[in-house]
Amino acid sequence: MGDLATEVVPGVLHKYHGRALFIATGACGINCRYCFRRHYPFSDSSANHSQWEQALEYLQRNREINEVILSGGDPLTLSDQRLTKLLDLLEKIPHLQRLRIHSRLPVILPQRLTPELVTQLDDSRFHSTLVLHINHAAEISNPLIRGLALVRTNRTTLLNQSVLLRGVNDSTGELIKLSEKLFEAGVLPYYLHLLDRVEGAAHFEVDETHAIELHKALRLRLPGYLVPRLVRETAGEKSKSPVR
Ligand SMILES: *Cc1c(COP(=O)(O)O)cnc(C)c1O
Ligand code: SF4
Repeated sequence: MGDLATEVVPGVLHKYHGRALFIATGACGINCRYCFRRHYPFSDSSANHSQWEQALEYLQRNREINEVILSGGDPLTLSDQRLTKLLDLLEKIPHLQRLRIHSRLPVILPQRLTPELVTQLDDSRFHSTLVLHINHAAEISNPLIRGLALVRTNRTTLLNQSVLLRGVNDSTGELIKLSEKLFEAGVLPYYLHLLDRVEGAAHFEVDETHAIELHKALRLRLPGYLVPRLVRETAGEKSKSPVR
């Protein structure tokens, strides 16, 4: 994805206007087979302890950045204490207004949505968004719904991104069920990503024509706010590219 080329200091990808992606940790508890970060040299570039300083210094220096996106790996593999520490440091940077957390961990570990985490987001001066990564309605378990209900009581916005996967969610019926179940859990669909071409994931690939047809069918069947944006990542582009 040309991600390495946009790595401005170890652990920070600055590709899009106003937003910087902070690889707070290379660790992830899941290991999806289609993960585009599986082939990413994390040991060299995650902003681990010693590198946080350099990453924070970059954010401090670039006043154009008003949103920091904690990604990984999965940032919720960090303990609440580490996250508190990181948030405290980020809050000291005056031009940062928004915090985003990209995480799939709550899907397999709903208990990770701890009251401490919720309080921390609540008390933060940031406007926060938690972007989940859920691909199928069956992943939205009752414990996850309860965890999300905790987060919903504060001012954190809940969004979801999915990957379009052959044999998993590549039908209008499954995608509609996913959007509807997300909404019931207080989460709005944000992105539906075309699969990145990573080694060993070809059997999940949905061809673009079919993806566009599916997306069109969603637009005909769902209210606009339940239709995720169909996108792909293109190296060198200044935003995710809409597929149509
Ligand atoms: C996807 C991505 C973002 C966030 O993009 P949005 O369209 O704001 O969700 C930011 N930085 C990088 C490097 C990304 O890949
Ligand atoms: S949850 Fe995200 S970072 Fe973790 S393996 Fe899956 S796609 Fe990769």
